[in-house]
Amino acid sequence: MTTGFHSHVHTPFPVGPHTLYATASASLIYNPAVAKGYAPKELAFYLDIASWSRLRGAAPVSNAVEASCLPTLTDAQGSVVYVPWPDLGAIDLRFLQKLLGLVLKALGEGRTVEIGCIAAHGRTGSLLASLLVVVEGLGAAQAIQRVRGSYCPYAIESQSQRRMIHDLAGEGFDPCT
Ligand SMILES: [Zn+2]
Repeated sequence: MTTGFHSHVHTPFPVGPHTLYATASASLIYNPAVAKGYAPKELAFYLDIASWSRLRGAAPVSNAVEASCLPTLTDAQGSVVYVPWPDLGAIDLRFLQKLLGLVLKALGEGRTVEIGCIAAHGRTGSLLASLLVVVEGLGAAQAIQRVRGSYCPYAIESQSQRRMIHDLAGEGFDPCT
């Protein structure tokens, strides 16, 4: 359901044979009626820890995954992965690859996967574009264009996010293009 141009609540986005769902915590925080009807999909990757853990009323807890290079956290309900990813920023390439592996493993198991951050634009859009790179083999510019064209024109918000997607695709990056 998309409740407006900037609002994302379970906005579907196809990647290869899969469909992921994107949700903005802000869409729930500023619209209590929408928040009331919201239920997370089977497995959610929340890329903004503070807003989502508050919405769920559950403090993230450490789990075994933290011992690897991806310091993800789950909460007591266990169906959520909280990923430390700074607003407007990028994450380390190895960290991104590990995160993509977790998302693809869940999709491969037939689980319904949701991705969310605050606006579901920068971090969420960057993860969707990254999935297009690894699943569909798109180049970085093509992946970004697809996400902006068929998901939201505000997706992928910063130079560092565009650079990260180019790095993932093994391409050079010119910030002025
Ligand atoms: Zn949007």
